[in-house]
Amino acid sequence: MGHVRIARIAVLGAGTMGHGIAHASAAAGFATSVYDPSGEALAKASAAITHIVTRAVERKGVTEPEGREIVSRVNATTDLARAVSEADFVIEAAPERIDLKLSLLAAIDLAAPAHARFATNTSALSITEMATALTRPSRLGGMHFFNPVHRMRLVEVVRALDTDEETVAAIEHVAHRMGKDTVVVRDSAGFVTSRVNALIGNEAFYMLQEGVASARDIDKALKLGLNHPMGPFELVDLVGLDTRLAVLEHLHKHLGEKYRPCPLLAEHVRAGRLGRKAGRGVYEYRATPAE
Ligand code: NAD
Repeated sequence: MGHVRIARIAVLGAGTMGHGIAHASAAAGFATSVYDPSGEALAKASAAITHIVTRAVERKGVTEPEGREIVSRVNATTDLARAVSEADFVIEAAPERIDLKLSLLAAIDLAAPAHARFATNTSALSITEMATALTRPSRLGGMHFFNPVHRMRLVEVVRALDTDEETVAAIEHVAHRMGKDTVVVRDSAGFVTSRVNALIGNEAFYMLQEGVASARDIDKALKLGLNHPMGPFELVDLVGLDTRLAVLEHLHKHLGEKYRPCPLLAEHVRAGRLGRKAGRGVYEYRATPAE
């Protein structure tokens, strides 16, 4: 069982996560192609990658020639077959919809080289189900990055029912080359991080609902007393209350009663208090929506 040699990486989807993953890949020295059906998304992603590199040069994280090299390693394309035809490793970061991910994987199953390994950045969907789109389901595993990719150190490596050891090793290898630390998790709802985070966030809403303390004091208590970098309400305002509610509904369905979404959270969502992006969540944001 020889290891897969990885020199070329394809990233599918150039959105919030895709552009960060493409940057991490290029910065790690991989020849990187990034595919998105939207030319506009690709243009935005290229600008965002250049921005991350420029900031790194300013902060003396990389030299100017190194920065130029990183940017030049990224090849943006709207042609899926071209993006994956020479890839040794493919990272899927397309929208969180199972139908879309299944058809994308089916399309690259034949277009990518036979030795290529695949990873999906899904937050919650079943990777075991996704793997059914492939001729050899053992070639797919999870590679769960965090936002923003260039700052967050962890990658959750997810083993689905049929994922083979070579695929797990390939995902770990790429993550380590990107300077990330890894944990290996079995394919299950919320993996480790979303499962714990959703529970803390939900409990914070229950405390607010019961009048245990104000939102500001709950945030302050977790930051100063438990050393969390952000309070649970600051964090949910950033994540989006609608997104958090959807995650909790998913965990409730798969893991049971303790994940039942707090009624106060659902009420905020019904009121349109979706967080920073709406100008209003648990807190009020005077500035225009979305930063
Ligand atoms: P996004 O909406 O910002 O970006 C998705 C991109 O995919 C868009 O540019 C879109 O044009 C493109 N796209 C649409 N159809 C496509 C197709 N058929 N093939 C390839 N690309 C296509 O989404 P995102 O936040 O970057 O999320 C991507 C994935 O990463 C999702 O599975 C999500 O659950 C996961 N994820 C997100 C976060 C986060 O904080 N946003 C964190 C971890 C994991």
